[in-house]
Amino acid sequence: RTQDMNQTLHGLIVKALGGFYYVKTTHALFACRARGKFRKIEQTPLVGDQVEISPTGEEEGYVTNILPRKNFLVRPPLANIDSLVLVTSIEEPAPNTLVLDKLIAIAEHKDIAPAVVVSKADLEGEEAERFAKIYRTCGFPTFLVSSETGEGVEAVRSYLTNKLSAFCGNSGVGKSSLLNRIDDRLSLETAHISQKLGRGRHTTRHVELYELREGGYIADTPGFSSVDLERCEVILKDELQYCFREFEECIPHCKFTGCSHTCEKGCAVLAAVEEGSIPRSRHESYCALYEDAKNIKEWELK
Ligand code: GDP
Ligand code: ZN
Repeated sequence: RTQDMNQTLHGLIVKALGGFYYVKTTHALFACRARGKFRKIEQTPLVGDQVEISPTGEEEGYVTNILPRKNFLVRPPLANIDSLVLVTSIEEPAPNTLVLDKLIAIAEHKDIAPAVVVSKADLEGEEAERFAKIYRTCGFPTFLVSSETGEGVEAVRSYLTNKLSAFCGNSGVGKSSLLNRIDDRLSLETAHISQKLGRGRHTTRHVELYELREGGYIADTPGFSSVDLERCEVILKDELQYCFREFEECIPHCKFTGCSHTCEKGCAVLAAVEEGSIPRSRHESYCALYEDAKNIKEWELK
């Protein structure tokens, strides 16, 4: 037993619930408390954290160390996210371009790779194509999918392989249906099923990682919508331009340093919008977000 206590194992937190962190190691799944008897860790562990644990039994132990995080979100509480998959249905409900562009900017700001899924493509194929093209043009991995017909599902599945991904999208856009198609073991409840059972969805707020058959993890984040992210993440106005990757090549060519890319003469971003190489809707979102960001003072963040 004494020997066990001195042993250190490395693992991944796949679930946090009721004061326990469930750490997957090559040996077993350990239910761990955050504070050890011998060592205190300063941060609160998050699902997605790579940690060191000190076992106290076959399947119990303490988290003794959190390895450096690549990134993390406050809401949902999740660390080391490789990709944020933003799901938008083409109809029922129709896309909200500004919200989508804001979420993409937040992901970029947090150093999380954004991907765009345009769902329910079976409802409005041409419109879905047109919408997806905006995001392809900007260089985002973009998927047109239908969970009804199965179109595009394989492409999403292979994109997710060996990544830790989180799906974000408002209720009803088709996240659960898509995840079920991707891996039936995920068996997340769709609205349909829970309506049948007559109970509300997403009654719990814990986050859990599901391992994909092909490798990689998906965070099932109950009720994770754009509002959760928007509430917690702030981008200052001068940083916003770097959160629109399609601006990158233009920015050095603007006539004035400190160009806001909203209205200046000699702005290379505006020229690219006119010429059609930057989608107009993306620039409109940028301008709207820039206006919002003007009202944020740096000291407010402290
Ligand atoms: P979630 O709230 O984002 O998890 O969305 P759900 O997966 O629960 O889907 C919401 C509704 O949209 C359900 O009635 C689904 O049957 C429907 N739905 C989901 N995906 C598709 C799709 O690809 N095509 C069509 N036509 N309907 C879909
Ligand atoms: Zn400019």
